[in-house]
Amino acid sequence: MDLKDCLKKLADNGRLAHIKTEVDPYHELAGIAAKFEGGKVLQFDKVKGSEYPVTTGWWWNRDNLACLFDCETEKLSFKFADAVASLRSNPVAPIVVEDAPAHYEYQDEPDLTKIPVPTHALKDGGPYFSNCIVIAKDPDTGVRNTSIHRMMVTGKNRLGLLLDVGRHLRDYYERAEAKGEALEITINNGVHPAYYVAAITPSAACPIDMDELAVASYLLGEPARLAKSRTVDVECIADAQMVMEAEILPYVREPEGPFGEVSGYYAKQEDRWVINVKAISLAKDPVIHMLHPGREVWNSVGLGVESNLYQTISRQVPGLKKVYMTHGGSHYGLILQMDPPKNGMAKNAILAAFAAFPPLQMLRVVNSDVNIYDAEDVERAMVTRCDPAKDVIIIQNAFCHELNPTVVDNIGAKIGFDCTYPVPKPERYDKISYQEVDLANYEIE
Ligand code: MN
Repeated sequence: MDLKDCLKKLADNGRLAHIKTEVDPYHELAGIAAKFEGGKVLQFDKVKGSEYPVTTGWWWNRDNLACLFDCETEKLSFKFADAVASLRSNPVAPIVVEDAPAHYEYQDEPDLTKIPVPTHALKDGGPYFSNCIVIAKDPDTGVRNTSIHRMMVTGKNRLGLLLDVGRHLRDYYERAEAKGEALEITINNGVHPAYYVAAITPSAACPIDMDELAVASYLLGEPARLAKSRTVDVECIADAQMVMEAEILPYVREPEGPFGEVSGYYAKQEDRWVINVKAISLAKDPVIHMLHPGREVWNSVGLGVESNLYQTISRQVPGLKKVYMTHGGSHYGLILQMDPPKNGMAKNAILAAFAAFPPLQMLRVVNSDVNIYDAEDVERAMVTRCDPAKDVIIIQNAFCHELNPTVVDNIGAKIGFDCTYPVPKPERYDKISYQEVDLANYEIE
C-alpha cells in the first residue's frame, strides 16, 4: 500500500476531507490545518505556486491510524510494540525493487520552490519539511538508518537540518565529517505510515547495528520496498511520493529556525547542519505529505512509548490496566489506569513511570472506573479522589526533556497525583450509573 492507497482507504471510511479552495502554503495552509487538528485527515487539492496537492493530519487522530492499520484504536500502541519486538525475534529485511513508482519523474536540476512546502507557524524561519524520512548508511559498517528530522528550505537545492544529539544519523554524520566527507542520504516524503513508525523507533529499541526498516516490514505484512538511487549510494523508499537524493555537507553550518516545535513553543534560530539536494524524483501525480507540528508529534511519540511503559510498569507494580500519553500533555503528561491491590501502590507506579520515561513531568493515576481518554472524567477523579495533603509526590531536580520551557540544562521537577480511591473501595466512591438504553427504539423529534 502506498500513500494514495491509504488516502483512498481513509476516504472510503469517511476519514478524509478535501480543501478545494486554493490555499497559500505561506501560513494559510497550516492555519486551516490548525482548525481541523484532531479530526479527519486533510487533502489540500490546490496549493498556490505548485501543481501538487498536500495532505496532512495523518497522526492527529488515533482512530484514523487504527483504520489504516486495521486494528482497534486502543491496540495500536501494542501493535507498534510488536513490530519493534520483531527487530530481535524475526527481522524481515527490505527488498530492492526495479522500476520504483517513486522514480516516475526524475529531475537532476532540483527546484524545491516548485514543491508545496508550507511555512507553518507565524514565526517560523521558512518553509519546513516536518516529517521526511531520512535513510543513510553507517560510513563504517554500511548498516542502514531510518529517521525523521526537521528541514528548512533555504534554496532551490538547499535545506537546513536539525541533527539532535543521540540520534544515529548524527553519529553517522560525525564519523563522515571526521574523514572530510559528506554523508549521503535519501529524503523520502509521502509513504505508508508503517515507514514512519520504523523511523521513530527509539534508538534504545533499535541499536546502531540494526536496520529499523524491519519494523515497517512487520506492519506492512511484506518486506519494505526500497529502490536504488542514481546520484547517491543509499536506497530510497520505492513507493514514496517524492524522493530527494542528497548529502549533508561536512564543516558547513548555516542559520536554521526558528521553528514551532512539538512542545508548543519555538526552537531558536542557530547555525546548524546543511543539506545539498542533488536530485528530486516524483511518483505519478504525487501527493506531498506534511505533518502539522503539535498533536501529530505527541501522538506518534505517545503511541511509540505507551506499550513500553505498560510493560515496564507492570513488571514493577501489580494492577495496571491502561497507559495513555495525553494529547494536551505533549510527551510530558501521562495517565495511568490501575486498581492498586494495596494502598500505596499507585505511588509506586508513579515512581516506576518516571524512571521508565525521563521526559515525563506530570502524571495522574486513576482507577478502572475512569475513562482515561476523557479529560473531564480524569479531572473529576483528580478533584474527588486525590487528597492534596497526602496524594501528591513532587521530585525536584530530576532529569527532564530540554524542549520543555520549565526545564533548564535538562533539570526539572516531576509531580505525580494519586487519584485512586483507598483499598478496599469505600462506598462513597461509587460512581453514579444509569440504565443502558438503545435510542433507536425511541421516537425522538
Ligand atoms: Mn538506527
